[in-house]
Amino acid sequence: MTDASDLAERVRDGELRLYELEDHADHETAAAARRQLLAAETGADLDAVGDFTFDAADAEPNIENMIGAAQVPMGVAGPIPVDGEAADDEHYLPLSTSEGALVASVNRGCGAIRAAGGATARVLKNGMTRAPVFRVEDVGEAATVAAWTREHVDTLAEAAESTTSHGELTDVTPYVVGDSVFLRFRYDTKDAMGMNMATIATEEACAVVEAETPADLVALSGNLCTDKKPAAVNAVEGRGRTVAADVLLPHEEVESRLKTTAAAIAEANTRKNLVGSAKAGSLGFNAHAANVVAAAFLALGQDIAQVVEGANAITTVEERDEGLYASVTLASLEVGTVGGGTTLPTQAEALDVVGVRGGGDPAGSNADALAEVIATGALAGELSLLGALASDHLASAHDELGR
Ligand code: NAP
Repeated sequence: MTDASDLAERVRDGELRLYELEDHADHETAAAARRQLLAAETGADLDAVGDFTFDAADAEPNIENMIGAAQVPMGVAGPIPVDGEAADDEHYLPLSTSEGALVASVNRGCGAIRAAGGATARVLKNGMTRAPVFRVEDVGEAATVAAWTREHVDTLAEAAESTTSHGELTDVTPYVVGDSVFLRFRYDTKDAMGMNMATIATEEACAVVEAETPADLVALSGNLCTDKKPAAVNAVEGRGRTVAADVLLPHEEVESRLKTTAAAIAEANTRKNLVGSAKAGSLGFNAHAANVVAAAFLALGQDIAQVVEGANAITTVEERDEGLYASVTLASLEVGTVGGGTTLPTQAEALDVVGVRGGGDPAGSNADALAEVIATGALAGELSLLGALASDHLASAHDELGR
């Protein structure tokens, strides 16, 4: 059996490439060989990186050139009572972050939501998108392709859905720019975040477009999807789950838990999240939704780069006679409970904590529930930070907890 030192030596000698080691040894040995090589070449001590609990072979679908694991602390906030369409009752929310004070802050918001009797949450729209770009001769031909597409969505659905047993094509919207035609395909991907599913299905549909129209495919992703880039199309049209959560917090709870008043929080929200964000030209009109989305994505095996879309959130706050009304609407929260990183052991355990691991019954209900719980967590984060800003406690909280 080849050992790690021997493998590392063969890489150094140019006999093997870094990515070929699993062909000559088991996954643990291959990772150990890469660590040895890196330690020798960089002087870095990789003992902590190499000290992980899962079977390296199980991570094969998730990583190449594996050397170990990055470990980020995981905390928990909650329980948060969520009155959702898919989520109900109380849920704990695991959060992974290195930002001190974040979990404490979200947890404080969860306490406020609990005191209010819970939050309401709903998935308002659902659809993962992929938008290939085609070359045509001119604007006239572009219009012909767009018209053909509008009339043949059923034909495209038949082709796309032949690649998946869960995915359903729900819409194809054409966009034309001169001699480029973009077709924005939208899918219900059920419990999968769906980016692989949508890409594979769209490739099949593109073959039909090319066979039936003069359009030539240039790229399967034409950036109008839009994946992992800040884009207004996601903020307006949605991508993944469009999900909202709200709460009505009695005045006495605002005062006892957030140490301020409904009027002060509403003013902070208007001037900061609405006016400040407008002045900045921001797509996200919120205080720090990305904090909760990123920490939840890390803990729960979601695609971290899609925090870009997860930050497209608008927070509204209003002082009412009965108390403080607050809502968060996340336009493009891309989540799944099957596939991707959800099967990694720590992430799968964290999904069990929320109660949404694997496929739901009916399909899609687990991913809906996860979206509703994350949206409620984001609401808790907004309430707590706005409360801290309004009561001027922000600096002291960071001082005590984060340093
Ligand atoms: P996936 O792991 O590629 O596929 C998940 C599969 O699970 C589905 O295709 C589906 O099979 C199956 N499945 C079983 N039960 C299901 C249920 N209840 N609901 C839905 N599907 C169920 O995951 P994905 O969500 O499509 O893609 C996520 C991955 O794509 C992540 O790893 C992400 O990092 C990566 N990604 C890819 C791209 C890209 O352009 N390709 C871009 C960004 C991210 P059937 O289809 O046969 O039904």
